[in-house]
This record gives sequence, structure tokens and C-alpha cells, in this order.
Amino acid sequence: MKKVDVIIVGASASGLMCAIEAAKRGRHVVVLDHANKAGKKILMSGGGRCNFTNYDVSSENYISHNNHFVKSALSRFTQWDFIAMVEAYKIPYHEREHGQLFCDDSSKDILNLLLNECKKNNVNIQLNTGINHIEKKSEHHFIIKSNKDDYHCQSLVIASGGLSIPKMGATPFGYKVAEQFNIKVWPTSAGLVPFTLHNQDKEILSDLSGIAINSIVNTNNKSFRENILFTHRGLSGPAILQISSYWTAGEAIEINLLPDINLLEELNSTSKKQPQIKLKTLLHRLLPKRLVNAFIKIELLDKTLQEISYKQLQFVASTFQSWTIKPNSTEGYRTAEVTLGGVDCDALSSKTFESKTVAGLYFVGEVMDISGWLGGYNFQWSWSSGWCAGQYV
Ligand SMILES: Cc1cc2nc3c(=O)[nH]c(=O)nc-3n(C[C@H](O)[C@H](O)[C@H](O)COP(=O)(O)OP(=O)(O)OC[C@H]3O[C@@H](n4cnc5c(N)ncnc54)[C@H](O)[C@@H]3O)c2cc1C
Repeated sequence: MKKVDVIIVGASASGLMCAIEAAKRGRHVVVLDHANKAGKKILMSGGGRCNFTNYDVSSENYISHNNHFVKSALSRFTQWDFIAMVEAYKIPYHEREHGQLFCDDSSKDILNLLLNECKKNNVNIQLNTGINHIEKKSEHHFIIKSNKDDYHCQSLVIASGGLSIPKMGATPFGYKVAEQFNIKVWPTSAGLVPFTLHNQDKEILSDLSGIAINSIVNTNNKSFRENILFTHRGLSGPAILQISSYWTAGEAIEINLLPDINLLEELNSTSKKQPQIKLKTLLHRLLPKRLVNAFIKIELLDKTLQEISYKQLQFVASTFQSWTIKPNSTEGYRTAEVTLGGVDCDALSSKTFESKTVAGLYFVGEVMDISGWLGGYNFQWSWSSGWCAGQYV
């Protein structure tokens, strides 16, 4: 049986950050991960360029049953602190819209930064290591049995992430540990995930695959303005991913496909100035042809504006500006970027991330009931929570 100060389960964003900080304090740290490679999600993130943080981070960008919990950690290890690490490693990066920061070259740069810091501070990373048994012997004394070595440790950090992308090694491990120690876990669901559609909608919309439109998407009093993307399975794109985290199954979403104009006014005024113009001519100027033709019957599209009643114009305007659609479901954890729900924040200290009831047990990163918006917020949470816990484990 090996004796170490800190065992961290999960060699990815939050776990590696916690390991680096704890090791800098002189703690003997071992990180265990069942995967054959550290940081797989970092590597696949941001389309291979890792959206590692955002210039504008606040508690508003996170979803949790305790909306205040993130504030402390986000203010102690900020986006500027992580940017400083990126700059110290001379990693080239750039800003995209909404303050999102991406690597110029590859997500590998971020993972290499973390692995290099681990190496510099003598963090021992054990891959291909599954955990078979966890036992609390006494205050600050745990026994961890793995498929390789067995350990005694003072602090046990669960950084095993959520359920998204099981193919990349996601498991419910962290929730099971919480349950073992009677720590509440909020029900989980897939977030930042595309919607699938009911068959009748799929039939109408399947021809639109590949069309992207800047739109405002609403549900549950939350709205996002970004692109939506029609796919052969349903609806995707950043605005859809964002709203999916606020969507409740069975509810409709409302989409304004022309957020910069008042379509009814436009139809009315054009009808006065150019009564002979056909409805389709006007609409095809504003929206992709395929989309217009899928949404409005050809008989109406072929009419001139003077032939169309005010009621019909209202119908056309609301079709594009208050398009209401009830998703069938989401694509689920297979493609979700995050997991909503998780280990209850109220059970943890927002300063140390230690359980309030089990001394020496910590939870960091996505395993917690904290989910960020699209835009680098999830990694920032991993950096901030991992860094804070690293000061205490
Ligand atoms: C496709 C995709 C793209 C994304 N892009 C971005 C982005 O650009 N920007 C952003 O901010 N966020 C992004 N995210 C979200 C981000 O990747 C996560 O929020 C973040 O990785 C969470 O870090 P974590 O360390 O808490 O957990 P994870 O990164 O999920 O790491 C958990 C680790 O625990 C290990 N583990 C799990 N179960 C066990 C077990 N039973 N035993 C041992 N080890 C175990 C896993 O192998 C893994 O290494 C993306 C997510 C996905 C899926």
C-alpha cells in the first residue's frame, strides 16, 4: 500500500489544475485516470483549438441550483490568471466573437502546458488506472484500491467530470462516490447539445440540412442570439446548444429567424411601394430560398403582395419571427458538451471545495452541479475550481 498526501481521480482540466497547485505547495500528489491518455476532452474541445476561457466571465454564465457558488472561485482564479499561464507558455491564441479565446494552433498546447507544469512539480499521473474501492478510515484518511496500486491518502479529490461523451471515458464515477458518502447529487441531463425533432418536423426540415442563420432563440425566459444550424438529425449551432441547457423536455422553443428587422412592417411597406412584387421575391432576398420554400406553401409564395391579405402577411411574419417548434429530445450525452446537475454545491465549501460532511473529500470541475455556457466558461470553471481546491488539499 502506497502512502501519498493527495489522490486526484481524473487527469483532465480540473484534476490537473488541482494537482499542479497542490504539488507547488509540496504535497505528494498522484492523479489516477482510467483513460489511456490525459485530457482527452481538452484535446477534442473547441473543434481542436480549445476555447480555453472568455474575456467576460461572471456567475451569469453558469447554471446551478446555487447560482452564487461560483462567485468565490471565479474571483480567486480568474480568466486573467489563466491567460497569464497561456502567455507564459507563449501559446498563440485569438479572440472570437463574444470574448471567446481559442488557441491559434491546437488544443494540444493547453494540455501540454498542464502536463509540463505537472512534470515540473513532480505530479505522478497514472493512466489506465480504474478505481475499484474507496474507503474512509478516519478523518483525512482514505484507502483507494485501484486495478494497479493501492493507496493511503489524506485528501481525495474527485475530478472525474460529467457524463458527456462516454466514448471519451465519461462515467458516473463522481456521482457514485458522492452517493457512497451520502452527498446529494442533483439529477443529471445533457447540456450544450443539439435537438432532435419529431418525425413530421424532420420531414419538412430535412432538406434544410447545412443552412445556418443568425437568430434569436427563446425558451423559459432565456434567449440567445447566435447561429442556428439545420442538420439532418435536427437543430444545432451555437444558439441551439446554449438554449438546450435551459430547455425542459416537452416544451417548445421560439426562434426569430430575422432578428434585425420587423418583417410585418417590411411586408406592409413593400406591399405599398411595390404591390406587384411576389411574396417569394421579397422573402428570398431576406432568407435562404430552401428555408422559405419549406416554411410557406408555394401557392402563397407565388402571389403578389397586393393579392395577400393583412392576416396572411401577419401569418408570414410570425412564421419567421416567432417560429415555434417542440423538439422531440436532445442528442443526449453522446454529443453533449456538458452535463447539467451533479454534486450539490451546498454540500461543499465554496472556498476549499471540501465536503462539509466528509473531511478530506473534495469535488472539482464538471462533476459538480455547475454548467457553463458555450464560450470557454466550462474550462474556466475547471481552472478556477481546480486551482482553489489545490490550495487546500
Ligand atoms: C466535444 C466537446 C467540446 C468542448 N469544448 C469546450 C470548449 O471549447 N471550451 C470549454 O470551456 N469547454 C468545452 N467543453 C467542456 C469541457 O471539456 C469540460 O467542461 C471540461 O473538460 C471538464 O473538465 P473536468 O476535468 O471536470 O472533467 P473531464 O475533462 O471530463 O475529465 C474527467 C476525467 O476523469 C476521468 N474519469 C472519468 N471516470 C473515471 C473513472 N471511473 N475512473 C478514473 N478516471 C475517470 C476521465 O477519463 C477524464 O480524464 C467541451 C466538451 C466537449 C464534450
